[in-house]
Amino acid sequence: MEKQGNIKISSENMMPIIKKWLYSEKDIFLREIVANASDAITKFKKLAELGETTGDAAYKITVTTDEKAKTLTVEDNGIGMTEEEVETYITQIAFSGAADFVSKYEKAGGDGIIGHFGLGFYSAYMVSENIEIFTKSYRDGAQGVHWTSDGNSTYTIADCDKQSRGTKIVMHISDEEKEFLKESEIRRLLNKYCAFMPYEIYLNPKDGKEDKPVNDTAPLYLKQPKDCTEEEYKDFYRNTFSDYNEPLFWIHLNMEYPFNLKGILYFPKVKKQVELERGQVKLYCNQVFIADNIKEVIPEFLMLLNGVIDCPEIPLNVSRSFLQNDRQVQKIAKHITKKVADKLIELYKKDKSKYESCWNDIATFVKFGCIKDDDFYQKIKDVVIFRNLKGEYLPIESCYGEEVTEEDAKAGKEPQSVYYVSDEKKQSQYVKMFLSAGLDALVCDTYIDPHFISYLEYKNPKRVRFLRIDADVAGALKEESGADQKIEEIFKTALEGKNITVKTEKLKDTSVPAVVNVSEFMRRMSEMNSFYQMGDSPADMTIIVNTANPAVQALKSAVAEARNVAVMQIYFLALMNYRRLDSEETTSFTAGAVELLEKYLQK
Ligand code: ADP
Repeated sequence: MEKQGNIKISSENMMPIIKKWLYSEKDIFLREIVANASDAITKFKKLAELGETTGDAAYKITVTTDEKAKTLTVEDNGIGMTEEEVETYITQIAFSGAADFVSKYEKAGGDGIIGHFGLGFYSAYMVSENIEIFTKSYRDGAQGVHWTSDGNSTYTIADCDKQSRGTKIVMHISDEEKEFLKESEIRRLLNKYCAFMPYEIYLNPKDGKEDKPVNDTAPLYLKQPKDCTEEEYKDFYRNTFSDYNEPLFWIHLNMEYPFNLKGILYFPKVKKQVELERGQVKLYCNQVFIADNIKEVIPEFLMLLNGVIDCPEIPLNVSRSFLQNDRQVQKIAKHITKKVADKLIELYKKDKSKYESCWNDIATFVKFGCIKDDDFYQKIKDVVIFRNLKGEYLPIESCYGEEVTEEDAKAGKEPQSVYYVSDEKKQSQYVKMFLSAGLDALVCDTYIDPHFISYLEYKNPKRVRFLRIDADVAGALKEESGADQKIEEIFKTALEGKNITVKTEKLKDTSVPAVVNVSEFMRRMSEMNSFYQMGDSPADMTIIVNTANPAVQALKSAVAEARNVAVMQIYFLALMNYRRLDSEETTSFTAGAVELLEKYLQK
């Protein structure tokens, strides 16, 4: 006999609200329905294990699309429901669950509820105009039950002749949501949400033929790390992230205490140096996909990695702002960070050459992590390395000097200078001079390095200051007593109005007539200004004229006319090794060169 009933809570108003809120993520309904099917199987399995029931143990979930009938069906061979249970669980609990969800969502003030867990069965009404349930309980002699409702205020319930144990949910997809009738779309969603669910899921299985399940019921991350092979890790990576580049290395997280957390984090190869690529860290809860890149759980800098994290203890039906302040979640994030640092330290200690060969790919991530997270920096600082001009890698800590005490500072002692190159090609003349003087510099050429250098100085103010290779040429390369007043006068006169300071020094390298020097501080200021678009304040430049250079010495006895041309040429040469000449400068430089050539050749 068919019965009709009224759904107790007023649900007429709920649907439009839910539809509006969840519009962008309505595809989660499939996850909810399949997760319910999976739970129903788990319940049956437990009873069977306890010996309370027997029956078919080939557990599976079948999903079928039917474009003609406009239905999407999810069927399980789980515990099933009696008529009474349908009344309780579906008509009351599912609907009050949805009402509860709506009120939580409202409280969260539009701040998305993280995994949308809690909306459950009712979420299928986001895409269905009507839903039928055919179900039969595992209990002996149970009668099949048929329930149907359009999700508003009424439903009907009646007997049916369902033979097999379990539940079949038939969703009559509304016309606006036709995409959910397409096999390809449903496959995509199953891959997204159900890839690791614990029971086999078959999509549109062909009768009689053996089909492959769409999911991996025992994902690698659930195994003990000692039982996993390198090939398995690589396969899992390829299958999960569709990245055919091999990962550099990985971290298998596996803990049960003080919280349950499993997962694998992969360090991908960086494709482009210029931009930071975003990785994908997928968060699961008991093998059910929740979301990508939840920054409240996974520290932001770790988002450059690819990985899966399964953590059943994260409260997922709460708003993001709540998650941010949750102690447990903070502990989880800390733990993940610590594991990543441990892994890097281990690799550095065990296999330095591999570590160095991976450094290019992980450096940005490590530096970003240090800046973002002091705990991470403190742990990892001994394995932060930099390449020098000779191509060797040095731990940055080993480049610092002793701490300058207050007394030392009063006596004029400064923290250790560490020279660096930001562009080996552009700064090649300086590099050459440094190398020939037996000096070294670190290569700091990624876009994060300027920030990272400042960060290291801030962390070690008494031990180090970083100077770009063109920032302290005289300091690094001069011989004792090299100033020459006459030469200084000659340059000052010729360069009047050029907004450049003239200094004379005797440099160790005699082949270079002059170099441009820009103070580190002024250059950083000007870089910062242009970064914040506060206009271009040209860094103030000094030209260091090398009194050890024969051409420079020859200026003293040259005729005034030749002298002025020569000074300008020396000036342009120095400038050219510092930056590009602008068009006016190029014109003057060319004219000067031609003039000198003519004079020289005509003599
Ligand atoms: P939740 O799963 O969060 O409890 P739902 O609204 O998804 O809420 O479902 C309500 C209840 O309906 C479930 O707790 C379960 O008892 C029952 N149920 C839903 N789907 C199934 C199913 N496929 N088999 C058996 N019971 C089900």
